Amino acid sequence: MDHVVLKSVTKHFTTKALGKVTAVSGVNLSIRAGECFSFLGPSGCGKTTTLRMIAGFEDLSSGEIWLGGRAVSIKERNFYLPPEKRELGMVFQAFAVWPHLSVFENVAFPLRIHHVPNAEIAERVKQALAHTSLSGLEAKFPSELSGGQQQRIALARAIVARPKVLLLDEPLSNLDTKLREIMRFEIKDLQKKLGLTIVYVTHDQAEAMALSDRMLVMDMGVVQQIDTPTNIYNNPANRFVFGFLGLSNFLPVELHDGAVWAAGAGAESGPLDCDIPANWDDSRAVLATRPNEIELLPEGGYRTRIKARVFLGDYIEYRMDIGSTEIRVQSHERRDLKAGDACGVRLSKVKWYPAEQGVADDERERRKVI
Ligand code: ADP
Ligand code: MG
Repeated sequence: MDHVVLKSVTKHFTTKALGKVTAVSGVNLSIRAGECFSFLGPSGCGKTTTLRMIAGFEDLSSGEIWLGGRAVSIKERNFYLPPEKRELGMVFQAFAVWPHLSVFENVAFPLRIHHVPNAEIAERVKQALAHTSLSGLEAKFPSELSGGQQQRIALARAIVARPKVLLLDEPLSNLDTKLREIMRFEIKDLQKKLGLTIVYVTHDQAEAMALSDRMLVMDMGVVQQIDTPTNIYNNPANRFVFGFLGLSNFLPVELHDGAVWAAGAGAESGPLDCDIPANWDDSRAVLATRPNEIELLPEGGYRTRIKARVFLGDYIEYRMDIGSTEIRVQSHERRDLKAGDACGVRLSKVKWYPAEQGVADDERERRKVI
């Protein structure tokens, strides 16, 4: 069953500073029951706004949102169910715990609002604390606990009312790297144990890939791609998605005389050793590659020289120019090259994208959330 459904959801903001911004533009989306689904994209791309509309904290400019087969927002009819009636659990980036309440009372809070009897509160809080590895800390105050434990309080509070859907907005970004990785597993465990549908917002591609069954990549309010992490990584829908997931090289090229020439390359270097896609009819393109999918050859290939070399244990990273573009190459080969050595380069797995990217970078900068 589809658990969270968005139909043509759009949100405009108008502010003095920015003028009009379409923060979320025509988003269509179906998240299945029990799925862990991430929204991934750079700051300002519209992730939080989308999540807040699902939660009911933000009205829609147009479109519909359905939860568990029930309409919660339908702009056309001005229908709008308030957040407390949507039966969701939520955790946000900042540690939203109350400093003057004990761990027990922090977690009990949503149940007290709904006037749940005391005996039942005690039982449910106990379970929520057990699920989040906080048992025994009931009487402590947040200031006595670590950052990781404080964020677990927020998680415990989000699940105590037994929601079917958990909304998480960058819940781990205030934690250090090690703790972040541990908490990823704990969230995944919690999802399985409780059969939760999770909607997870992050700008961190590693986090999204590690957690998600499926995810969407968003840019300037527009969904770029929805798929499994593996499919998105292997088949990015466009240059933006390619660049947002993993490491990338973008090489501008020109096509003439039936060959592919790197921008700024002298005739002595020769053309690049790669095939032109059958349907390519532009005289320019940008070739996207991953640093670990470039071959270094003693002879043949595009001739250039190693500019820099860094040994990184599992692999060696080289930098070199192809024409006027510097690229990174990660090599697992034992054959070690030094700065200044001549080498040949062959781009193996190449994706072709149109040359023009236009004004997008300025617009992304304008939208950034500080
Ligand atoms: P993200 O969570 O992906 O970083 P947001 O959804 O917070 O991005 O913001 C998307 C865009 O909408 C940004 O340009 C931001 O400045 C703008 N925005 C978000 N909330 C408001 C608001 N309450 N008023 C005006 N503009 C807003
Ligand atoms: Mg945000």
